[in-house]
Amino acid sequence: MRIGIIGAGQLGQMLGFAARDLDLSCHFIDPSVTPPAAQAGPVVQAAFDDSQALATLADTCDVVTYEFENVPVTALLEIADRVPVYPPPDALRHAQDRLAEKRLFEMLDIPLPAYRSIDSIADLNEAATAIGLPLVIKTRRLGYDGKGQFVLRHLDAIETAWRTLGQADLIAEQWVDFDSEVSAIGVRNVDGDIVTYPLTRNEHVDGMLRISRAPVENPVITRHAERYVRKLLDNLAYVGVLTLELFVVGDGLFANEFAPRVHNSGHWTIEGAATSQFANHLLAITNRPLQSSQIRGYAGMINLIGRIPDAARRLKVGQLHDYGKLPRRGRKLGHITAVADSAAERDRILADIERNVTQSTH
Ligand code: AMP
Repeated sequence: MRIGIIGAGQLGQMLGFAARDLDLSCHFIDPSVTPPAAQAGPVVQAAFDDSQALATLADTCDVVTYEFENVPVTALLEIADRVPVYPPPDALRHAQDRLAEKRLFEMLDIPLPAYRSIDSIADLNEAATAIGLPLVIKTRRLGYDGKGQFVLRHLDAIETAWRTLGQADLIAEQWVDFDSEVSAIGVRNVDGDIVTYPLTRNEHVDGMLRISRAPVENPVITRHAERYVRKLLDNLAYVGVLTLELFVVGDGLFANEFAPRVHNSGHWTIEGAATSQFANHLLAITNRPLQSSQIRGYAGMINLIGRIPDAARRLKVGQLHDYGKLPRRGRKLGHITAVADSAAERDRILADIERNVTQSTH
């Protein structure tokens, strides 16, 4: 079977590598000259909404998926009557607009921070009075890794916030003084079978994911998170992997956002789970039985951002994934996964990697 993938970044690359073991071939569309997924299958160099390239992908593939969240929904709808497109474009539509996403969480009784839709400085003042400060102001669309956000701590910064972000559609949400951030990854196939992965705890630096650890050993929040992710999967008649990001406060959870795709916080599943998120995504969209998501002990992952130090290539423990991208400040170039028999041992390995690799100067 032939899978068409819109986007050929590292997520596409890891999907392409997983496809080999499943006897599937992947064909990609991406505007870049040497994208990471070129190692895993042919890439047509074209914009994500290039009608001609998308039509060819639709006509030559059995199913089309995407690894990139900013694909225009209209581009997917153009081909959706010719080839199955998974995850469903309607899920992408919700994920691309923070307001639609929050309304979906509300409709499904998934708890979320208080929020307001913002169209003016007056709306910002009203939100600050009703919700209180700090407020996190976010663009409704095209924000990622904390970009397009402003934390409003004092009322006298409202005009600055408006000047910084006011040209876009906005929402303002309650600042959550969370204990930790977690992500719940679930996968649903065309028949509606669902598998969920052990809950993952994530640490961010400057809005970017830095370290993930699984499993989260709190049965109460694990149960809630699994229920929420299942609600989303079923309600959206979803097909493929979906990742729900949540804030943990005590034994409670608040939904932040969801990604309709395989996710950085699930990279540990390649070595750390019986079946990776990439393999299960492919099984889901080709409507095959999903495979076990069981974790092999305790897993952790560290992102390599901006550069891959030499020390990363000399590791005695941990598995390096080098996406083959050119180094650039703030760019995700690779990651290292560690799997161990205990949480303490995993954390010791991650701390060693932090000390010897990510903090090394060469
Ligand atoms: P986002 O792009 O919405 O995922 O935000 C990026 C990061 O900003 C999150 O992972 C959090 O660390 C932080 N953040 C976002 N929204 C809030 C909030 N309402 N309260 C506290 N921190 C937040």
